[in-house]
Amino acid sequence: GLADSLVQMLRESVERFGDREALVEVGGDRLTYRELWRRSARVAGGLREAGISRGDRVANLLPAGVDWVLAFLGTQLAGAIAVPVNTRFAQPEVDYVLADSGASFTFRPSRPLPDGEPLAVDDLRPDEVAAIFYTSGTTGRPKGAMTTHENFLSNVENVCRVKGIDAGTGWRTRNLVSVPLFHVTGCNTQLLLQLSYGGATVVMPKFDVREFLRIIADERINLFTTVPAIYALALKQPDFEECDTSSVEHVSYGGAPMAPALVERIKAAFPNARVGNSFGLTETSSISTFLPHELSVEHADSVGFPAPVVDVAVHEPDPGTGVGELLIRGPNVVAGYWNKPEATASTFVDGWLRTGDLARVDESGLVHIADRAKDVINRGGENVYSVEVENALAAAPGVVEAAVVGVPDDVMGEKVGAVIVADEAFEPGRLLAHLEDHLADFKIPQFLQLREQPLPRNPGGKLLKRELRGTSGWQGPLWGR
Ligand code: ATP
Repeated sequence: GLADSLVQMLRESVERFGDREALVEVGGDRLTYRELWRRSARVAGGLREAGISRGDRVANLLPAGVDWVLAFLGTQLAGAIAVPVNTRFAQPEVDYVLADSGASFTFRPSRPLPDGEPLAVDDLRPDEVAAIFYTSGTTGRPKGAMTTHENFLSNVENVCRVKGIDAGTGWRTRNLVSVPLFHVTGCNTQLLLQLSYGGATVVMPKFDVREFLRIIADERINLFTTVPAIYALALKQPDFEECDTSSVEHVSYGGAPMAPALVERIKAAFPNARVGNSFGLTETSSISTFLPHELSVEHADSVGFPAPVVDVAVHEPDPGTGVGELLIRGPNVVAGYWNKPEATASTFVDGWLRTGDLARVDESGLVHIADRAKDVINRGGENVYSVEVENALAAAPGVVEAAVVGVPDDVMGEKVGAVIVADEAFEPGRLLAHLEDHLADFKIPQFLQLREQPLPRNPGGKLLKRELRGTSGWQGPLWGR
């Protein structure tokens, strides 16, 4: 059965798995469950002595590692609300989050953790807010998603069920966190998942692709969830062939669209693993749909079926294509945005979350994401889904990364522009023929930019298209279009 709160969940794991390894910081400390509890409870006591009480907001500016986890769990044990802050934010963005959340205490890298008489508030209700996660702000100003204990616990339940892991099997697993802990994938779907069934979490303080491969082998990692961009990077490493990935049993990707062309290579790279796509938002406390291993290649253009405790619906689908805005409902959908009644009212409507993603659900119930509504290109009245064009580009020989955005046009409103990072296998002369095989005529990019540098992404692996839209330096119009 589900616990009432994260505190109860952790206490149960400590009782059952006390001497087992709970947390490892690469190059740093290793903690058992008992040590994790003892040290978190001292942080909670220190917060209490600093005047923090139930429901107060406690911001966390620490880098990923043991102290980050102690700060998060210490905040829970104090009954307060954790506000994990994106460590890549510039000072004005940090100031915004601290002010918006009304944080009365902030964990900072330059200071020791608070320390006091051990404390564990254990009568927290499922509907109390446990954390406020700020959305990555890919499409606008970050908004604080109020995540309750029940939201957290139902995400844990979703992930356990789709992966087929529970307390009977999960305690022996080791999960490698290579994505930020301040976003829901790292915190909810990796760290808290592991803590629910007595598994170990290995945290990389700083992402480095060669380190990532080394740790998988050295720490005998069994599972991880990371973003498509990291797979693309890892599989490109010359020494990947020598990397021992035999311990890996579950790999998932999500957070951004996965190019179908990459999925088979991931399967080959992790031969003993079940491979799955998971789709979700900060507002759904992480996963909402999951594409299981058996379907991962054949239906690589889909994000799978709704997770066990999730309902999905498509709002006002287009009669021709069936595409409309994806709506989500379930106990994992957050309680609203902190301090933003208007945004809450327009996003959480009649019990449904409006995702801002355009999607269709096919006859077998598989969900297909067409694009983020804000990224759709309107070319003279025709909708062009940027993701579809990106996937076609990614399948062309030599294309390492591609991003598709609208280029303003006096006549058409917008035309299709593609920014491409390519390697030596790329043949510009063959690109048009390749695209004609994959895309309808009006979707073929007329403007092109070749770049040497990786494309701009946020720490969650999402393309920062707003940085590409404003750029000059397009070649085009190409191909007489
Ligand atoms: P903001 O709302 O401030 O712009 P954000 O939406 O970028 O922030 P997240 O909540 O982290 O922040 O991102 C959720 C979005 O990520 C989804 O709405 C979807 O567009 C995209 N996404 C997540 N997982 C997948 C996936 N598996 N496949 C395709 N897209 C995905």
